[in-house]
Amino acid sequence: MTRLTRQVVHQHTGKSLSVGSRANIVLAALLTLILWLAYHQVRETSGGPVGPAIALGTLSAALAIAATVIFRLWSSRRTLGQALDLQTSDLKRANQALREEIEERRQAELALMRYKSQLEIQVKAGSCELKKAVADQREAKDTLSEYHLALEASDEMVTVLDRNYVFRMVNEAYLRRRNSPREKIIGTPIVNAIGPEAFHAIKPHLDACFQGESVEYEMVQENDTDGKRHLLIRYYPVRSSSGKVNRVVSVIKDITAVKRAEKDRERVFSLSIDPICVADFNGYFKDLNSAWTRLLGWSKEELLSIPWFSFVHPEDTAATEAINQDLRQGRSVKDFRNRYVGKDGRTRWLEWNAIPDVEEGLIYAVARDVTDQIKSQETIKLNEERLQSLLKLSQMSHVSDEKIRDYALEEIVRLTRSKAGYLHLVKEETGSLELVAWSRGVQEACRAQETRHYPLENAGVWADSIRLRRPIIHNDFENMPNKKGLPEGHFPIRRHMSVPVMDGERVVAVAGVGNKERPYDEADVNQLTLFMTSMWSIIKQKRAQQILKKFSMEDGLTGLANRRRFDEVLENEWQRAAREQQPLALIMMDIDYFKNFNDLYGHQAGDDCLKKVAACLRKNVRRAGDLVARYGGEEFVVVLPNTDLEGGRDVAEAMHRTVKDMQLRHKGAYRRDHLTISAGVAAIIPGQGDDPAGLLEKADKALYRAKRAGRDCVKQDSEAYGTTGVLQALKSALH
Ligand code: GH3
Ligand code: MG
Ligand code: MG
Repeated sequence: MTRLTRQVVHQHTGKSLSVGSRANIVLAALLTLILWLAYHQVRETSGGPVGPAIALGTLSAALAIAATVIFRLWSSRRTLGQALDLQTSDLKRANQALREEIEERRQAELALMRYKSQLEIQVKAGSCELKKAVADQREAKDTLSEYHLALEASDEMVTVLDRNYVFRMVNEAYLRRRNSPREKIIGTPIVNAIGPEAFHAIKPHLDACFQGESVEYEMVQENDTDGKRHLLIRYYPVRSSSGKVNRVVSVIKDITAVKRAEKDRERVFSLSIDPICVADFNGYFKDLNSAWTRLLGWSKEELLSIPWFSFVHPEDTAATEAINQDLRQGRSVKDFRNRYVGKDGRTRWLEWNAIPDVEEGLIYAVARDVTDQIKSQETIKLNEERLQSLLKLSQMSHVSDEKIRDYALEEIVRLTRSKAGYLHLVKEETGSLELVAWSRGVQEACRAQETRHYPLENAGVWADSIRLRRPIIHNDFENMPNKKGLPEGHFPIRRHMSVPVMDGERVVAVAGVGNKERPYDEADVNQLTLFMTSMWSIIKQKRAQQILKKFSMEDGLTGLANRRRFDEVLENEWQRAAREQQPLALIMMDIDYFKNFNDLYGHQAGDDCLKKVAACLRKNVRRAGDLVARYGGEEFVVVLPNTDLEGGRDVAEAMHRTVKDMQLRHKGAYRRDHLTISAGVAAIIPGQGDDPAGLLEKADKALYRAKRAGRDCVKQDSEAYGTTGVLQALKSALH
């Protein structure tokens, strides 16, 4: 129990006990007194027996005393209870205070322990830090010595100057350069080392650094031993603990080699005839050489200010964008080709090699102008195409003139890279032009075609090449004066070229093309002339061949097939008949008494007679395969494919009748007064062992029999009525 608690308890209990006992004694004394007085009073006043009164008085007094005592006891007990209550609450408070005091002490002890452990940790940490600090110091010392070594080993000249421009430190490189010992440099002002003039030049830079700036500049220094050197000088301010710059570290780097390399690169860059550039991924040139200006006509400033994509030909932008994407991804580009458009609108082909630097976001590229190369490749290709076309044209002698002309026309349109073409024939005798053909493109566009014939004088400027007898080029056709309208639906002509097609001194045709993308030039003229002249000579040659062939196969007098043609046709038809097992009929005819005719009417009349007979014979053949030929002299022969003996006889009789019906006067014809013919007919389905000569012989024999029978008649192969003949007749009937 604390002193305070003990005091409180004593105060309460002590006070209440002393007050209670003192009051009880006083009260008891008073009651006794009263009782005694009352007894005496009663005895004196009554003088009688005093027994009941005394008893009553005594009882009353006893009761009074008892009541007083009880009251006093009750009140003292109450007072004691109150005192006890007070004491209990005091005790509780004291207890609470005691508990708080204990808690305080516990907390204080805990805090003390914590503090103690913290102190221990701090001590430990302090010890670690101390160790670390020692290690750091050691490391710093090592690092410093490494720095020192590095500094000494560096090729860059490093010096430290104080605010008085006095050397505080220099490295080996500097000493080497100055060719001076360290002790002569350290502590001396820089002006002594480099001279007043050089010092004057560098002082502003040094002062700027002493103001706190980092400074960098280049300078050229020349001396007798090293010649001209390019130096890169950097000053770094070194601050004291007060923050004031009290030292400047100067680092001098000899960049002569770099500068030389840079200069060399610059020279190569500017001298290169190939365009070289550095570009960024955002589409701008960062640097480019003068070859670009030579190539495209734009100044360097223009090229640098406009995105390089704008110079790319519109047809190549998609491919160029794809390549740019590759570069962005870090892939190099090799031999990529695209077109650039110059200031004058001309297109140039470039072939690229490019390397990207993704980190820097730059593209390093070198290009080559391959326009001429591509042009010559195109020319070679075009020439090859032209040669092939010419070759094909030269091999077209077997096709119709129309097909040759159409082919030639389409080819000149294609080979001159045109969109339209035409071909007109010149008719000298009428002084007019005949439209032979329009190229397909024009035919598709034009809806109406009024006429195919033009009087030359009415023809437009396109016919100038006929009037002037030389090729003409209209590269600005739209602005040409005196030009006439185009047929309905014809697309506008922007460029035009036409050439006369000459046959010796004669202009036989005019050919023209239009709407080439690029202007027509001499090469186009040469091509068109060559091609159309070739076409003309092929057509001419073909015609000559046809005439020759005609002559070689035709009888000059009668116009019938000649003997050679007959032999050829007979052979062919024989083969076919054998193959198809079809009958082949042959008629041989001879004019009766023709010698007499000649003798009577003359040779010329004989010739005329032959022509008339030929015409009669020709009239009687209708099928395409039938052939009437002059076999020789006044003998004729007829080949009739797919015809049996009966059919052959019908034809022979029809011919015989036609000649007879002509009633050509012939006094020399025995027992007749007009010209007649005799005919022998044979037919065969070619079998094993048969040949054309056999058929001819049979027909000839039949003719002989007709002559023998008095002429002016038709006889058929007698064997046809023999065994073979019956079989053949049966075969024919079956067919
Ligand atoms: P036959 O009735 O027996 O046939 O008597 P022919 O006089 O016609 O007989 P021959 O074969 O002896 O005479 C044929 C004559 O045809 C001989 C020749 O003068 C004549 N002749 C042959 N070729 C020609 C020709 O191209 N022109 C002319 N005018 N006469 C011709
Ligand atoms: Mg004859
Ligand atoms: Mg005759």
